[in-house]
Amino acid sequence: MPVPLLDLNRQNGPLHDELAAAFERVMRSGHFILGSEVESLEKECAAFLGVNHTIAVSSGTDAILVALMALGIGPGDEVICPTFTFFATAGCVARVGATPVFADIDPVTFNLDPADAALRITPHTKAIIPVHLFGQSAEMAPLMTLAHDNRLAVIEDAAQSLGARHRGRSCGAIGDLGIFSFFPSKNLGGFGDGGLVATNRDDLAERVRLLRTHGAKPKYYHKMVGGNFRLDALQCALLRVKLPHLPAYCAARRRNAAAYDAQLGQLPGVVRAGMPAASVARFVLPVALPQNDHIWNQYTLRVPGAGRRDALKQHLAAAAIGCEIYYPVPLHRQDCFAHLPRVDLPTAERWANEVLSLPVFPELAEAEHKEVIAAVGGWSG
Ligand SMILES: *Cc1c(COP(=O)(O)O)cnc(C)c1O
Repeated sequence: MPVPLLDLNRQNGPLHDELAAAFERVMRSGHFILGSEVESLEKECAAFLGVNHTIAVSSGTDAILVALMALGIGPGDEVICPTFTFFATAGCVARVGATPVFADIDPVTFNLDPADAALRITPHTKAIIPVHLFGQSAEMAPLMTLAHDNRLAVIEDAAQSLGARHRGRSCGAIGDLGIFSFFPSKNLGGFGDGGLVATNRDDLAERVRLLRTHGAKPKYYHKMVGGNFRLDALQCALLRVKLPHLPAYCAARRRNAAAYDAQLGQLPGVVRAGMPAASVARFVLPVALPQNDHIWNQYTLRVPGAGRRDALKQHLAAAAIGCEIYYPVPLHRQDCFAHLPRVDLPTAERWANEVLSLPVFPELAEAEHKEVIAAVGGWSG
């Protein structure tokens, strides 16, 4: 039985009538840019996150860009970010003319290692971007202390972690600004591109709102140079249909992850991340740390040993089981950053050769789940 990595129709299908009604409502209103649907989504997301302000924007990438612009970060500034993340985290730093400074990751959570980040602070460092990768929070307390002691701004890249919590607080609501993505593969997937900026700071919320519409207030009077970073009213109306279901989607992902953990954990030679034998294990299963409410945007195994990850990927592909490598090349090894000072970030470099993400989407059927487990367990490599 083929098993997809993700099947959006299974999630959106049951909401078809509600989604169609929302689409109709906006279409008939004739009001497509900003307005009540956008404001309502922003209010509902702010309440969901427990944060003072949210600003809906055109994508998760633009959310990072506009957050950096709101902080006034530009040429001559350095911004520390993990090397093991989606490209946008660092790409936006470069786009505002600043320099991304890459740091290594924690071997258990895949997230920015606070001790390694601390080593990379210079007099030019202006901000730090912890990423809550795969649905689990970065270790925020030491990162916030580091930021405070060095007067750095904190932008949380929570693109994969809308609904995740860390010591009881929403990911993306802890730093100066948090950013989220509504890209279809994220836990709250929209119908195209979309993103969100969250902040508790009134001054930053005001600047992000201005920058979202070319820095103009009132219209045609430009206080700063912004861009067109608006999210469509249509997209907001559709996302409002799905937002109330997000806790259930996250719970279903958590159930799927727990079932993988229970069943793959019984295979011989399989260990969990952080256990001492992890360097010689057959597979290393991901773990959720107790202080984190993990929402499992990805369920990512490690397959140690030269070439073994690629062999497992081929084995699963032959069984028509969807899987993907997030991410095959750490950002400090990307061609576009080859001009930056060379650094060795050994955990991320190794993990990039060992990671493989399995289907964990909420609507994964039990029979499919069993099929994945059987295929992984049946691999002889
Ligand atoms: C998806 C993602 C982004 C970018 O979001 P888009 O909506 O695709 O622009 C940024 N950072 C991380 C970690 C992501 O996973």
